[in-house]
Amino acid sequence: MCLASPIRVSVLLPLPFEAAFTYAAEEALAPGTLVRVPLGPRMVVGAVWDDAPDETVPERRLKAVAEVLDFPPLPESLREFVAWVAQYTLAKRGEVLALGVKANLLVAAKGRRKVFEFGGADAGLAGPALSEDQAVAGAALRAAVKAEKFGVTLLDGVTGSGKTEVYLEAVAQALAVGKQSLVLLPEIALSVQFLQRFFSRFGAMPAVWHSELTPAVRRATYKAVATGAAKVVVGARSALFLPFPDLGLIVVDEEHESAFKQEDGVTYHARDMAVVRARISRAPCVLVSATPSLESVENANSGRYQRLDLMARHGGAKMPAVAALDLREDPPERGKFLAPALIAAVRETLARGEQAMLFLNRRGYAPLTLCRHCGHRMACPNCTAWLVEHKSHKRLICHHCGHNEALPESCPACGAEESFAAIGPGVERIAEEVALVFPEVPALVMASDVITGPKEAAAAAAAIAAREVDIIIGTQMVAKGWHFPHLTLVGVVDADLGLGGGDLRAGERTVQMLYQVAGRAGREEAPGRVLLQTYSPEHPVMLALLSGDLPAFMAQEAAERRPGHWPPFGRLVALIVSALDEGLADRTARALSRSAPHGAGIEILGPAPAPFALLRGRFRRRLLMKTRRDLPVQGLVREWLARTEIDRAARVDVDVDPVSFM
Ligand code: ADP
Ligand code: ZN
Repeated sequence: MCLASPIRVSVLLPLPFEAAFTYAAEEALAPGTLVRVPLGPRMVVGAVWDDAPDETVPERRLKAVAEVLDFPPLPESLREFVAWVAQYTLAKRGEVLALGVKANLLVAAKGRRKVFEFGGADAGLAGPALSEDQAVAGAALRAAVKAEKFGVTLLDGVTGSGKTEVYLEAVAQALAVGKQSLVLLPEIALSVQFLQRFFSRFGAMPAVWHSELTPAVRRATYKAVATGAAKVVVGARSALFLPFPDLGLIVVDEEHESAFKQEDGVTYHARDMAVVRARISRAPCVLVSATPSLESVENANSGRYQRLDLMARHGGAKMPAVAALDLREDPPERGKFLAPALIAAVRETLARGEQAMLFLNRRGYAPLTLCRHCGHRMACPNCTAWLVEHKSHKRLICHHCGHNEALPESCPACGAEESFAAIGPGVERIAEEVALVFPEVPALVMASDVITGPKEAAAAAAAIAAREVDIIIGTQMVAKGWHFPHLTLVGVVDADLGLGGGDLRAGERTVQMLYQVAGRAGREEAPGRVLLQTYSPEHPVMLALLSGDLPAFMAQEAAERRPGHWPPFGRLVALIVSALDEGLADRTARALSRSAPHGAGIEILGPAPAPFALLRGRFRRRLLMKTRRDLPVQGLVREWLARTEIDRAARVDVDVDPVSFM
């Protein structure tokens, strides 16, 4: 008897493989079809891929597709996007696929199935009456959605100018033509206020996508996106990898945020990849920020992006008045961190029945603990980092690897007792000082170790709105997005904090963060006031904040980066070598240095110990390749790695367009 030979299909697995594997199927399967297939002893979900199957595998060695899942095939636009991201970031295609499809995603849950509702949003519901500027911008975005073609718009507008209202117009337009929208937010778990506004605008909740979803919600959401039932998805960066069949709009809110850069695994910048996803889907992309990145500003200046500006706050609210408090002239009391003028401003604000915010981008009580007797500093055993005291947990904690220990009774170096001193402040220490100065005023700390999820964030926002709290002490978590009507004073405890370290974007990032946090003040009738505690009031960053002239600051940044071909005027790729053995890390870094590419427009920096020369127990060295913009960096790096002999015990991580240089 002669059996017909089986049909061969390529299946890409959401695992760290570049290649699709060939399986046998009973029938031809369309690319994108989700299947369950055996891989060694286990079963995994994968996607039928566009590659030609391997005809050389002998038939008897072919494994069969175990199950074809009842699920819409991954759309071609997503498959193309996965391949594009993989080649750009030098990740394996399977790893990129895994950003959306988890190997266990579609395995049905045991027990009762819960039904989730998505969409049903009503595009017909009228939004608020728009101001003239807002209406112009809103109409431009509606037109971009109607055109159903790719293009990027930078929506730049001062804090409180109604950017959110304006881009919700674009979402309304997409709903009206029956297309799906994706809104990316940098910290989706904390976006309660956004979701409330969305609900009051459309009378329905969007689908929400982030890493904290329960498996059941995750699966239901994934399916709702794939079938088109979910019309609007609000998500973290990984939402880019959802199987939208009919994407009509992508919005990236707070596009300047470095939280959009994923640093582990596949290192990709969700803002940049959103633009790519939109291009492949022939949809418009809207980048939104009050403090756009230099990358986006340059793209707008060169005409690659359309630009829409909102120059004034909504409803006639004024921009806050910003002033510097020179700590050299008006220092805090010994061992304290709030200058008398800042304390006085808080007192006046409270006396008027308004709320104040103190901003310090540092969690915990104190960033350094040292022995007063011998000078020993409490450091992490696994990382190049000091341990941060957290009084609330009564622990010393490493913010990089999570290592934690109790504060010892005596100094581990000299044995002295009760000799430890806490050096410098974190938000907990500011809260302690506030409690001393304003004992009868309720205060709230907002930092990621206390506000751990949407529930806590919602409770905090409600307490602030209900005036149960009048002083808010927060880290970067409070800097963006929030709208607290009674908040009129923002005090920045250490405006110089982000400027050390000399990283390429330190100035830009500090301006952005402080401008955003300043933007929380005086968003309604009562005027806002911002005080920056600083030791360097003449620093260009402080001058930019004082004048409010961000475009001038960005022009200066551009002028400084352009001659040396620093991004966005040139390209960077970082190679991070790491190993458990320090000698091996060094040898590998030197080998990479010897085999590095050279030629016109290519510059290799390093190798050098990374600022975190030890991280989670691994020794780290860095090399940086800087090139002209027009050079094909992926090919250069691929060949570089291929010709270098790298010990299997060493790891080389590639970071294209690095944001962090740690
Ligand atoms: P941005 O995103 O630019 O910071 P928002 O969209 O958050 O600004 O707007 C600031 C505040 O003003 C919000 O409370 C918003 O609801 C309100 N707002 C903005 N535009 C309008 C409008 N046209 N009508 C009514 N309220 C508006
Ligand atoms: Zn550590």
